[in-house]
Amino acid sequence: MPSRHDLDRAGLGALLEGEPRYRVDQLWDGLHRRALEPDELTGLPRPLRTRLADEPALAPALTLETERVSDGGSTVKWLWRLDGGARVETVLMHYPGRSTVCVSTQAGCAMACGFCATGQAGFERHLTTGEIVEQVVRAVRAARAAEGRRVSNVVFMGMGEPLLNLDRVLAAVEALNDPRRFGLGARHITVSTSGVVPGIRRLTALGPRFTLAVSLHAARDALRDVLVPLNRRWPVAEVVAAARDHARSTGRRITYEATMIGGVNDTSSDAEAMAALLRGDHAHVNLIPMNPVAHTPWTASPMPVIERFAATLRGAGISTTIRRNRGQEVGAACGQLA
Ligand code: SAH
Ligand code: SF4
Repeated sequence: MPSRHDLDRAGLGALLEGEPRYRVDQLWDGLHRRALEPDELTGLPRPLRTRLADEPALAPALTLETERVSDGGSTVKWLWRLDGGARVETVLMHYPGRSTVCVSTQAGCAMACGFCATGQAGFERHLTTGEIVEQVVRAVRAARAAEGRRVSNVVFMGMGEPLLNLDRVLAAVEALNDPRRFGLGARHITVSTSGVVPGIRRLTALGPRFTLAVSLHAARDALRDVLVPLNRRWPVAEVVAAARDHARSTGRRITYEATMIGGVNDTSSDAEAMAALLRGDHAHVNLIPMNPVAHTPWTASPMPVIERFAATLRGAGISTTIRRNRGQEVGAACGQLA
């Protein structure tokens, strides 16, 4: 069902038929900037607020089920119930000088990566644009209420494969880019894909709107086939070729992610294969120690092994960071959302 953030200005205008035109701007700004209930739009006359409160098209899309806080208050995870009963999660992380919200794009995921809790649950449905945008609105409110902070970054790295829900994801990105709504530039938005090549090509044609992240995990097909089953459809060479074209055409650096799994994809020959694959590219690699997930035989690589892997990549001139884990104790870390 469409919700408030699926409405465009014309849609809002239709709801405000008979009201002065500037009311449309007031409602538009209010819904995107702060208000969750029309009653909070104190700039609107009370009778209008009362009428809007009963308007089904302005209903919120997300119903809070649980909120869990960890890392001394700097990580918050919300579990939402959606229309129809599906559930998704959103994670807000505060760092010194920035706050990042990680949003879901699908309830579940059909990609079935073996190290990821979302993948184990299977696919339920696509999220609407309104459901995606409202996750950001909720985070904006929570950030401000808690510590007067501003959400500075949005990453599409929660549940789901964003490039298989691309139209709705792009509409959400447009709302985030829009200076009248969230005003977040391309450097502040990251969309992560497990390697949907036609989706990457479509994004390239649109020009730079965000940073593209590609979940690489392994540079060789034999191993990547096992870790990311989608690799059997689009092998790693095709994925990297599409990402390279994207970097060339948009001028934006690609982020590659590799979940480091002990004894599985962290050997020195894995590191050398990745270095050979990405050498000379406009790319950055993020190594993520695998977060614990039930029903897998796998665990994180030891930190010295990850450091060595990083050193091999850096030795090939590839900028590499090791991502600090967040939210593990409440199941809010990468790959734990289910
Ligand atoms: N489906 C998209 C985006 C969501 S997953 C994708 O796969 O890119 C976000 C990131 O978390 C991906 O890089 C994914 O590989 C990583 N991830 C999944 N499970 C993980 C786990 N158990 N530990 C650490 N990272 C994980
Ligand atoms: Fe889906 Fe990404 Fe998890 Fe793979 S890692 S199952 S693509 S959410």
